[in-house]
Amino acid sequence: MLKLQGFAVSPGVTIGEALVLGTEGFRIPRRFVERSAVDTELARLQAAVAETTREVERNRDAIRSELGDQYAAIFDAHLAMLHDERLQQELTSAVRDRNWWPEYAVSRTLRRYAKAFQNLDNHIAQRAHDIYDIEKSLLRNLLGQRRETLAAISQPVVVLAHNLTPSETANLDRRFVKGFATELGGPGSHTAIVAEGLEIPAVVGIGPFLADVSGGEPVILDGNQGLIILQPDEETIAQYRQELEAARTVAAELDLIRDLPAETTDGVRIQITGNIEFPDEAEHCIARGCDGIGLYRTEFLYLRSRREPSEDDHFAAYGAVVRAMNGKPVVIRTLDLGADKMLTESRPEEDRNPCLGLRSIRLSLRQLPVFRTQLRAILRASALGDVRVMFPLISTIIELRQARMVLADVMEDLLEHGIAFNPKMPVGMMVETPAAALMLDALVKEVDFVSVGTNDLIQYTLAVDRGNKDVAELYNACDPAVLRLLRSSLDVANAAGVPANVCGQMSGSVMYTQLLLGLGLRHMSVPASAIPEVKQVVRSVSVAECRLVAEKALTMDGAREVKAYLRDQFNRRLARAVAGGDAAR
Ligand code: PEP
Ligand code: MG
Repeated sequence: MLKLQGFAVSPGVTIGEALVLGTEGFRIPRRFVERSAVDTELARLQAAVAETTREVERNRDAIRSELGDQYAAIFDAHLAMLHDERLQQELTSAVRDRNWWPEYAVSRTLRRYAKAFQNLDNHIAQRAHDIYDIEKSLLRNLLGQRRETLAAISQPVVVLAHNLTPSETANLDRRFVKGFATELGGPGSHTAIVAEGLEIPAVVGIGPFLADVSGGEPVILDGNQGLIILQPDEETIAQYRQELEAARTVAAELDLIRDLPAETTDGVRIQITGNIEFPDEAEHCIARGCDGIGLYRTEFLYLRSRREPSEDDHFAAYGAVVRAMNGKPVVIRTLDLGADKMLTESRPEEDRNPCLGLRSIRLSLRQLPVFRTQLRAILRASALGDVRVMFPLISTIIELRQARMVLADVMEDLLEHGIAFNPKMPVGMMVETPAAALMLDALVKEVDFVSVGTNDLIQYTLAVDRGNKDVAELYNACDPAVLRLLRSSLDVANAAGVPANVCGQMSGSVMYTQLLLGLGLRHMSVPASAIPEVKQVVRSVSVAECRLVAEKALTMDGAREVKAYLRDQFNRRLARAVAGGDAAR
């Protein structure tokens, strides 16, 4: 049994069969061959070895004529490894004696070799990459046209991958993908956010572990603790089955407060809206008793489709959400493409710092036809219900004014053509940059509402990439710098009478509920799965006590201290709520 720690990014526990995707996305299930087919399969293996040999020789010869013998020697080393007698014997024996499928034999055996190199604590460890190269080449030749991809999954699995992009995650088939774990990725990445939206338990940023697991093996994925357990023993499996049972009971209890208002013990009504990426998530929010949609991340329309969505595609998606909400508000955020939400075709060659580059509203303002198409669809949807539009990543007042100008222009166009829309559609902006937070007193005069995007606000305040596991320790909502920006943003918006909400992941974590209420927040927008729990906490605290928690947290000068304090406060509240049974009061 091997327990590995990563970042818990989407809650839930799942026990299932591993589907291992290598860096090239190969899928290698643990499969066995019939005894009668052993010779045919061995011949297939030998053919793949021969083809790989030819490929390596071709590369060697090309490099030799370009760069000389010294560089060509790298490929001679590959050939020597590939034809190593011991390796060849092991592969043959795996197929002949253990009846392993050749792909599985190659993957298992070569990964064991690579692991032996990786364990060496010196420069030789790099040779593991050469072995992975040989593995990939053999697999490519073995699988040929039969190479399987994420899109072809047709049975329940736990996907284990080097990395998954937000768009790959967006395309996962929820019916079959029961969880996923990746070697790369940080807690604030959009891959993490999409997993939570799709309610697929996930752990990211585990570091190298794919060499330790093969497809078809049982694994436990614990999205609550951020753990992945390979080759679990019976006792651990039984323990997790019990945990799954307990989680079902808690969910049933939380369901009891579904139709009760999110109101504190001192009678303050809090709005709890849902964050969605896809139209069908609106139903999940309704099922959990939401007060509307506080953040619709529309860029996922692009990331799930192979072609540029038309105005009607946009309109169909927005219309579905507005109808599902049946009069409740829907905040549609305009495209927030760029950074880690990239359309591969449009990745700028020289964009080496994409989080600081042409992303989000900056991109929309550069690609006006795309922006206008989306705004037309949003305006058309505004005739169907309570639609509000929101601009992401505003960092200067000029950007806000430009975006508003484009909106006004599109409105005029619709008016001219007699197309229905709400001319008073509320317009809001996200506070995701320290610049916006610092200039908010000026910005609030030009919007109807603001929404603090703590995911990006943390990233830009602390200068730490939200998707990079190596700096994930620094990515911390408890950092006093973040808390001060949050406090001032809420103070400024509240003083101006402009409704404010927080729609970053921080809002969906119950550890922060007391702090946020104490800072003056009265509207939280959270992933659908977090709605019941956040509501339960809201219903068990008073604003007066939350103020004390926030005041105290703001006197602290370190993130660690703040975190320990908030955790302690939360545990006390939880203990009291459970003892008093006041959740469903
Ligand atoms: C945020 O930055 O907090 C936010 C809600 O937007 P996104 O996570 O889509 O960047
Ligand atoms: Mg953001």
